[in-house]
Amino acid sequence: MEKREMLYEGKAKKVFATDDPQLVIVEYKDDATAFNGQKKGTIAGKGVVNNRVTNFLMQMLAAAGIPTHFVQELSDREALVTKVEIIPLEVIIRNISAGSFAKRYGVEEGIVFDEPTIEFSYKNDDLGDPLITEEHALALKLVGPNEIKRIRTMAFQINTILKDFFAGINVELVDFKLEFGRVLNDYIVLADEISPDTCRLWDATTHEKLDKDRFRRDMGGEVEAYNEIMYRIFGEKC
Ligand code: ADP
Ligand code: UDP
Repeated sequence: MEKREMLYEGKAKKVFATDDPQLVIVEYKDDATAFNGQKKGTIAGKGVVNNRVTNFLMQMLAAAGIPTHFVQELSDREALVTKVEIIPLEVIIRNISAGSFAKRYGVEEGIVFDEPTIEFSYKNDDLGDPLITEEHALALKLVGPNEIKRIRTMAFQINTILKDFFAGINVELVDFKLEFGRVLNDYIVLADEISPDTCRLWDATTHEKLDKDRFRRDMGGEVEAYNEIMYRIFGEKC
């Protein structure tokens, strides 16, 4: 597989064309941003952790019947994936209150919900990724009625699988963000990444944060936190 021109450089990843028009290579960077790009920094080794963790989780989900964009891990920082048309929605699932949920409703972090919740943000940096209702996403034709149903079902299924997996490594899956894309014939697949950048992961015993909140909140220890997730999954640090 030949790596060709860069198609896109985002905040955390670069996307490259390949000699196959249906496949792209994603390359994970150590760059970290928060608050819609206002806070910038780097987390050494983050790209390796996010690539390897994402690829591992995508393969686990695929084995459980969830269609994903993942094709093959190419290196520590690169993965070959199916090129998709990204649906411009951030799909957020929450099991425990934290982050913007806690802030918006004036509640503490750590309230365990009886049932997981779902919400959507409109993926649009100029607007600051505003929260969007399902009806508004349909009105704006960001997504079709059957697509949104499928996305909701897949997102909750993914939550069940991931929550169980993380529980097995003594980690609470607090909340996370998913992106979905369309491939040929409008088939919907899970795309983008699932990593400590896009999930809140707390140690199940101490509730210590093992995710990007350490960077967002200037807590320090982010390299160690990302490595700890890597260690619990693979038994090795990067
Ligand atoms: P951002 O665009 O928010 O800065 P990244 O740095 O992670 O985010 O950039 C990766 C970009 O690639 C994102 O916009 C994401 O939606 C997009 N993407 C993820 N998976 C695929 C895929 N399989 N095909 C095409 N684009 C993808
Ligand atoms: N999230 C993400 N990208 C975003 C916004 C949120 O990956 O652009 C993830 C975030 O890491 C967390 C979950 O989605 O796991 C819920 O985030 P929240 O709405 O609480 O927003 P935040 O506090 O991150 O601004």
